[in-house]
Amino acid sequence: LLILGIESSCDETGVALVRSTGGVAVPSLLAHALHSQIEMHQAYGGVVPELASRDHIRRVLPLTEAVMAEAGQRLADVDVVAYTRGPGLAGALLVGAGVACALGAALDKPVLGVHHLEGHLLSPFLSADPPEFPFVALLVSGGHTQLMRVDGVGRYELLGETIDDAAGEAFDKSAKLMGLGYPGGPALSRLAEQGDPAAFKLPRPLLHSGNLDFSFAGLKTAVLTQAKKLGDTLEARKPDLAASTEAAIVEVLVKKTLTALKQTGLKRVVVAGGVGANRHLRAQLNAACAQGKVRVHYPELHLCTDNGAMIAMAAAMRLQAGQQMANRTYAFDVKPRWPLDALGG
Ligand code: ATP
Ligand code: MG
Ligand code: FE
Repeated sequence: LLILGIESSCDETGVALVRSTGGVAVPSLLAHALHSQIEMHQAYGGVVPELASRDHIRRVLPLTEAVMAEAGQRLADVDVVAYTRGPGLAGALLVGAGVACALGAALDKPVLGVHHLEGHLLSPFLSADPPEFPFVALLVSGGHTQLMRVDGVGRYELLGETIDDAAGEAFDKSAKLMGLGYPGGPALSRLAEQGDPAAFKLPRPLLHSGNLDFSFAGLKTAVLTQAKKLGDTLEARKPDLAASTEAAIVEVLVKKTLTALKQTGLKRVVVAGGVGANRHLRAQLNAACAQGKVRVHYPELHLCTDNGAMIAMAAAMRLQAGQQMANRTYAFDVKPRWPLDALGG
């Protein structure tokens, strides 16, 4: 089966082509293309939904043509058109859903709506070292921070999640108030390389709460307070503040993940979502897991943030597991809010 995947939930337009051979073989990525709108939104300090939708409209067909050309395949050979159905920005989602269903109707091929977070969650299957079920998943993106127990495709049990900001949001908001632009996560992380992570004492919210929930809103306030206190010296101390912020976020993520492993008795972790690209998180988690003989799997660095490959992959794995049928109704709807554990198999 040739599966075309279209991602348009936020500020990245992604298109990819995946081949599924059926059985238990992991589907393979034939080609993918991505256009990030980050530059366009930077002037506003965040994503402007209406601009995002319009840009998806401009990009999605050229990207699709580029992907088909790179894979050396014709659109007529595509068997299923998959798209991100939610969660995300309603207008942005509608572009991908509309284009996917129009393509499906024109080609007389079935379409399949995919959960964006399931895409992130299964993205490590696109790596050279794909995981095996079951595993604990740490889903750390711009909008979500969750620990899940994953027993198979569609078998997701929520163990804990953030009660306020997501980890990516904590990176971005802290970076913004340090004047590092949008999205500030990668910039803050780069600056942190030159700083001292023990320079400032920042809170580790809910570290000892005994459950697997997270809270990052207070951290951002503490960073703001510290930045104000530094006044004129902030500029010189930015690397230290960045390193201390990153250390606080990473420590909570690692400790809670270890608790989830202990609670479930599982020996495998999958990290997914944009914050999974963070080098400090990877180093700390690898070190902690090596001690406990736990295997850690990550998506390839460039597939941590939003992309079409993870959407095509999730669709391929769903179809392969026989858990979801593509359909020819083409009456699409999008789900801007959509909990992953409500998905089922
Ligand atoms: P969601 O998937 O929850 O809807 P999203 O799609 O916006 O949200 P992703 O694309 O998965 O989120 O990830 C983007 C987030 O990852 C941003 O918050 C960004 O700052 C963060 N991020 C990316 N790279 C790094 C890094 N190296 N260190 C820290 N954070 C990072
Ligand atoms: Mg993004
Ligand atoms: Fe995402």
